[in-house]
Amino acid sequence: MSKIVILTGAGISAESGIETFRAEDGLWAQHRVEDVATPEGFARDPKLVVDFYNARRKQASEAVPNAAHKALAKLEKLYDGQVILVTQNVDDLHERGGSKNVMHMHGALNSALCPACDHRWPAPMVMATGNACPKCAEPAARPDIVWFGEMPYDMDEIFDHLAEADIFAAIGTSGNVYPAAGFVTEARRAGAQTVELNLERSVVGNQFAQHRTGPATRIVTEWVEELLGNAVPARPDFR
Ligand code: NAD
Repeated sequence: MSKIVILTGAGISAESGIETFRAEDGLWAQHRVEDVATPEGFARDPKLVVDFYNARRKQASEAVPNAAHKALAKLEKLYDGQVILVTQNVDDLHERGGSKNVMHMHGALNSALCPACDHRWPAPMVMATGNACPKCAEPAARPDIVWFGEMPYDMDEIFDHLAEADIFAAIGTSGNVYPAAGFVTEARRAGAQTVELNLERSVVGNQFAQHRTGPATRIVTEWVEELLGNAVPARPDFR
């Protein structure tokens, strides 16, 4: 059975109104990554960090899935093979777009984590600092987000899938954050066809055999229809 492994990044949610990492006027631009996306930043100023993710959770809850999220859900449902969806995104637009199996390698805004016992539970819309863990009562609840310097989730499983991939696609990700940026190398090693779908070439763009350039809502929809045999293949963009 053929296997497609898909990695998505912030670019797939951009047309739903959620800023990417580098959007000039976005939430990220108002804060330093070291302050809001590292364990050290959380230890220094937990309220700043919790408030930052409260704002992102609110924004994500008000966003709606776009045509690209829905196209990937359609692919999962109708493809005659296995579709593995791995996202770096912490929003839940893939799930609300209809995808059933999503691996959130960088965590999820709608989840809370106890660093003392690793218990996870649904995060309230507004988290407070020092909330008690419902399992071990340690007053140390934090957003269930993988911060810089921490180990992303599901790595063994993801690398197993990459080793068996027939097609690897990266959608809307800049290739700046590892280990995700290295997935293409792993997939190539396994002999997979590789395709990058993005507004522009990413920093690891030269690793991909094929490029499709444009907004995700258009190019992902077209790509999915081709994979499902419903469309005339577009001419690949080898620029
Ligand atoms: P990034 O911001 O570094 O890169 C975004 C990429 O998307 C860029 O390559 C850009 O060219 C592309 N892009 C922008 N708009 C697009 C569109 N309409 N169609 C297609 N491509 C488009 O994001 P990243 O690579 O995912 O890495 C940043 C980190 O920040 C990740 O770890 C992620 O967890 C986190 N993040 C998540 C969200 C979210 O959950 N929605 C949002 C911002 C950042």
